[in-house]
Amino acid sequence: MKTAIIVIDVINDFVSGVLGSERAERIVPNIGRLIRHARGEGVPVIYVTDAHLPEGDREFDIWPRHAVDGSEGARIVDALKPEEGDYHVKKRRYSAFYATGLDALLRELGVGAVVLTGLVTNICIQHTAADAFFRGYRVVVPRDCVEASTDEAQEAALSYMEEMYGAEVTSSEALMSEGLLREGYAA
Ligand code: ZN
Repeated sequence: MKTAIIVIDVINDFVSGVLGSERAERIVPNIGRLIRHARGEGVPVIYVTDAHLPEGDREFDIWPRHAVDGSEGARIVDALKPEEGDYHVKKRRYSAFYATGLDALLRELGVGAVVLTGLVTNICIQHTAADAFFRGYRVVVPRDCVEASTDEAQEAALSYMEEMYGAEVTSSEALMSEGLLREGYAA
């Protein structure tokens, strides 16, 4: 089963901008190592990023204005700049699947397992895990490549994804050292 790495919302506004935090900053190097490894193994790297309407976006009823499409805040952080051959899908809701082309892209690439990385564990990662599970994908979450605003939120979301979606919660180190990305998952 072919695997893809999904990098969700590692954009300026979520790392150093209006919704940024040190907790978010500390996963960036881990994701960087994982995607460099993935590219070397021929594993697709797919960025999915918030790209909100300038005004009237539904999310702005709940959150401060952030990640307006085309703005500096909506740009992928410099440390994880996409490279040739990577993919980029824009979204306007928590789930990377909702009203986007992600599902069609994964199917065209022959992907059956998704490794979810990025922000925020109990929001966009968890909603994406749900939609991946509903669509028949195997879900893998390296815990050092996702982050929430508190340890409690992080652990609760990881447990929920394990229990409800059969997600494999692992580490980026394990994914790289065991060659799982290149070989893919058996079932
Ligand atoms: Zn948003």
